[in-house]
Amino acid sequence: MNLHEYQGKDILSSFGVRIQRGIVAKNANEAVAAAKQLTAETGTGWYVIKAQVHAGGRGKGGGVKLAKSLKEVEEVSGKMIGMQLITPQTSAEGKKVHQVLVAEDVYYPGASETSEFYVSVLLNRGTGRNMIMYSTEGGMDIETVAEETPHLIFTEEIDPSTGILPFQARRIAFNLGLEGNAFKEMTKFVTNLYTAYVASDASLFEINPVLKTSDDKIMAVDAKVTIDDNALYRHKDYLNLRDLREESAIEVEAGALGLNYVDLDGNVGCMVNGAGLAMATMDLIKQAGGEPANFLDVGGTADAARVEAAFSIILKDPAVKAILINIFGGIVRCDRVAQGIIDAYKNMGNIDVPIIVRLQGTNADIAKKLIDDSGLDVMSATEFQEAADKVQSVLA
Ligand code: GDP
Ligand code: MN
Repeated sequence: MNLHEYQGKDILSSFGVRIQRGIVAKNANEAVAAAKQLTAETGTGWYVIKAQVHAGGRGKGGGVKLAKSLKEVEEVSGKMIGMQLITPQTSAEGKKVHQVLVAEDVYYPGASETSEFYVSVLLNRGTGRNMIMYSTEGGMDIETVAEETPHLIFTEEIDPSTGILPFQARRIAFNLGLEGNAFKEMTKFVTNLYTAYVASDASLFEINPVLKTSDDKIMAVDAKVTIDDNALYRHKDYLNLRDLREESAIEVEAGALGLNYVDLDGNVGCMVNGAGLAMATMDLIKQAGGEPANFLDVGGTADAARVEAAFSIILKDPAVKAILINIFGGIVRCDRVAQGIIDAYKNMGNIDVPIIVRLQGTNADIAKKLIDDSGLDVMSATEFQEAADKVQSVLA
C-alpha cells in the first residue's frame, strides 16, 4: 500500500524523525487556514504547496510551488487542487490533485548553506536484509545518479537481530560529509528512520530530499512510504490511509473479487491459476507476437463464479483482442474448470473476442471434450506451443 507524502511524514514524525511540517488542505480556504496555523506554530513566513498524489517528480510537473504570502497560498493551491498533474512518473493524462500539503518553507537562508541528500530504507533481496541506501546527490532522481555517478551511492546493510548500530549511523553521517550538529542530527535521523521502517512493516521508505537546513537541522522534506500489504493485518490503524482514488479502478475491483490482477498495456488478456504459470503464460504470449494485457491469477478454486468474475475484469480493458486461459488442474479438476468457463461464457452473453483455453492436468481430456462439444466460440489446446500458435493465429 502506497501512502501520500503527508501520511508518510506523520508516521516518520511519530517515531521521532524530524520532518518539514505541513497541514493537508482540500481547497484554497483550508490552505490559507493551514498556512496561518503553520505560521503560528513555526513562525514561517513562506510556504510550499505540494500536490498530494501517488507519484514522484511532482516538482518537475508543477506540483511543488513556493508561496510567499497568504494571497499566493490561496492562488497557488486554488490552481493546484483539481488540476491533472503530469510528472515523469505518471501516465500522459496525469493524476488528479484532490488535496495539497501546505508546508513550512525550510530552505531559509542562515549561517551555512542548505544541502540535499537521498536516504532510503528497503529490503536487499540478494542478502535478505534491510539496507539503508543513501547519497550526497539528493533532490535528483536516484536512477540518474545510479547511472551517471554510481560511486556517490552508498549502502549500509542492517543485521535484523541488532537493528541499526551507532557506528553504522555515524558512518552514514560521515560519508554524507557532515560535521558538528548536522552530523549528530543525521545519526539520530537514520536511526529513528530505520526503527520506523521496521515497526511500521514498510517495504520502502524513500526520503528524497533529506535536507540539512542552514541552521544545521536534518529533516525529511519528502516521504515516499510503502507499507507491506501482507502486514496490514498488524496495523489496523493504517487501513484508513488507503486512498483508492490513487489506485487503478480495475485493480481495486479485481482485489475486491479476490483476484490477483495487475493491469498491463498489451492486447491479450490472460487468466491463469498460480503466479508462476501466469508469468510463463505472459512469456508465451510475447513469443506468439502478442503483449499481455494483464497479469491475472485466479487462484486455486477456479469455479464458474471466479472464472466469470475474471472474464468480466479482463473484458473491462478495451485493448483486449484475445483471451488466453491457461489452467493447470492439480487440486482443481480440469473438467470443473471447463464447465466453469462454459457457464461463465453463457452467462456473460456476447463475448466478442476469441478465447483460447489450455487445460492441463487432472481430467484434461474430459475438459477438452466439454469445451469442443459446447458449441461456443472457444478454441481448446493441450500443449503450450499449440496455445501459442492459436494466439498467434487470432492476432494475425
Ligand atoms: P517531488 O518532486 O515529488 O520529489 O517532491 P519533493 O517533495 O521532493 O519536492 C521537490 C523539490 O521542491 C525539492 O527537491 C526541493 O528542491 C523543493 N522544495 C521542497 N520543499 C521546499 C521548501 O520548503 N522551500 C523551497 N524553496 N523549496 C522546497
Ligand atoms: Mn522528492
